[in-house]
Amino acid sequence: MPVLVMKFGGTSVATLDRIRRAAKRVGVEVAKGYDVIVIVSAMSGKTNELVGWVNETSPMYDAREYDAVVSSGENVTAGLMALTLQEMDIPARSWQGWQVPVKTTSAHSSARIEDIPPANINAKFAEGMRVAVVAGFQGVSPEGRITTLGRGGSDTTAVAFAAAFDAERCDIYTDVDGVYTTDPRITDKARKLDKIAFEEMLELASLGAKVLQTRSVELAMRYKVKLRVLSSFEEQSDSAGTLVCDEEEIMESNVVAGVAFSRDEAKMTLVSVADRPGIAAKIFTALSDAGVNVDMIVQNIAEEGRTDMTWSCPTDQVKRAEAAVHKAKDAGVINFQEVIADTDVAKVSVVGIGMRSHTGVAAKMFQVLSSESINIKVITTSEIKISVLIDRKYMELAVQALHDAFELEKAG
Ligand code: ADP
Ligand code: ASP
Ligand code: MG
Repeated sequence: MPVLVMKFGGTSVATLDRIRRAAKRVGVEVAKGYDVIVIVSAMSGKTNELVGWVNETSPMYDAREYDAVVSSGENVTAGLMALTLQEMDIPARSWQGWQVPVKTTSAHSSARIEDIPPANINAKFAEGMRVAVVAGFQGVSPEGRITTLGRGGSDTTAVAFAAAFDAERCDIYTDVDGVYTTDPRITDKARKLDKIAFEEMLELASLGAKVLQTRSVELAMRYKVKLRVLSSFEEQSDSAGTLVCDEEEIMESNVVAGVAFSRDEAKMTLVSVADRPGIAAKIFTALSDAGVNVDMIVQNIAEEGRTDMTWSCPTDQVKRAEAAVHKAKDAGVINFQEVIADTDVAKVSVVGIGMRSHTGVAAKMFQVLSSESINIKVITTSEIKISVLIDRKYMELAVQALHDAFELEKAG
């Protein structure tokens, strides 16, 4: 029988009532003749609570135990979903990641899926089970320890199962009815897109649009998974949501497809470093060795052989970055006067594959920000995106102004 993957996010399984509602949707697909793999998140707020407990117990925690704790929210919803389906007379059982098994790397708290052997679940489908409910976000390392896939990782579990079982489609049910031109919580002018290209979705996700985890989009693109985002709240079960697809499948689109933002950014500056060959290599090697994910970089104009080096990184890596540059200074590898961290910044980005063939997007973006008197601290560009770092207090204003200026409320 054809296989369908249906993923329900945290708000879609937040209460027993919502689990029943989600189970009904699963029942509709089972009645159509599909064998269904349901991937569930933890109830909304649960994972945050678990992360909080870990941090409170052990600030410099052992990542293996972090994963043991934070993966547990999904175990509860997987079991409850299987029970709910059984109550509806649908043959179903739950699977934790290690039982499938979802084999991952041992990079605890951000593991990657390496393999999902389908044999165990397929054997149960062959015996008449109609729904396999799998706990999202978790897997098992080669050492036999529980791993997790990074926040939002259930999306990636879903796409990986769709690839492994050659599913007809991977449906991501969430609390919005699709992918919008920007987060609909920031502006009510945000417009739902019927289709979005993989590459645009990949950029939007990695630049902060949390509707899909970045890795899930990468996997869908690589394995040609038909990926759909839709609401679990709308009564009409066949409302189409947004299809994430190849750009060839999209007939018309705007130059800018969407605006993304991320509050989770910090700007760090090393004041007065020697301006000579090799110095950037030393600074960024020290940061990379410490596991700091550097995003944007600017080197300021040198004066009398000294310069300032600025970069951005996730807010929760600031302490680690400070420790790394001080360690390199103590070891005589680099020399600087001081390191300054500014955590009151945000990154705002415009994304669109149309930028490959249209000029002037950057100029327009900078004009819009300037007319709102928003100062740009750092800029980076790639073929299909432009990102700026600005004061966090202007983030919403910048997103709204850019959404208006690029007329994203209108279809292209
Ligand atoms: P789930 O718990 O179902 O995984 P998430 O909270 O992870 O849901 O993702 C859905 C949220 O993503 C939405 O509620 C919305 O606020 C946010 N979001 C951010 N950017 C976008 C966008 N461009 N389109 C749709 N939703 C977005
Ligand atoms: N429950 C996990 C999280 O909140 C995984 C997910 O929901 O996708 O990050
Ligand atoms: Mg999510």
